[in-house]
Amino acid sequence: MRSPGIDRGKVGLGSKVPALKVVDLYQDRPDLFSALMTRFWAKVEERGPNECWPWTGSRLPKGYGRARVELGPEGRETVIYSHRLAYLFCCGDIPEGLYVLHSCDNPPCCNARHLFLGTATDNAQDRESKGRGGGAHLRGEGNRRAKLTWESVREMREAYAAGDVTQAALATRYGVSSGTAFKVLAGHTWRAPSTHSEE
Ligand SMILES: [Zn+2]
Repeated sequence: MRSPGIDRGKVGLGSKVPALKVVDLYQDRPDLFSALMTRFWAKVEERGPNECWPWTGSRLPKGYGRARVELGPEGRETVIYSHRLAYLFCCGDIPEGLYVLHSCDNPPCCNARHLFLGTATDNAQDRESKGRGGGAHLRGEGNRRAKLTWESVREMREAYAAGDVTQAALATRYGVSSGTAFKVLAGHTWRAPSTHSEE
């Protein structure tokens, strides 16, 4: 299972959780980035917008998907969790120390609507509540750390397309950074990876 040249500690498979940023993936090569996205989504079984989308590629023992990417300026081959990559493609950067959690409690699921960011504490609490059979207590869009929702993203885009508001004003209105607003409005993040994007 263990491949040579793959630094598990640096990629979220070890105990430390590093940041994962769009800019780390083929930073100056949008063509390679979009090829990576195509390759990635080809391994995800896309179902209805609110259903789980299982990873069909190789999996780790607990069911989490493994995706292979090249990271950083040297393009070092790296293995990361497929749901982290799904989150990155749809919702943007993952800050250092944060986990991508599943509201659906389904490890291979790559539907970004079921994914949200949480701390190590959230991760432990989430696991604990699910272990007791309590179901998902932390919901992606209901979690206070998830500032944007698909609904607010749609509103932002509509308002911006209508031309009566600036990106900066939208960033303030929705409580996000101007960089985040830019990426949302440019379609770099929160991009529904399917024909369901107009839901
Ligand atoms: Zn799911």
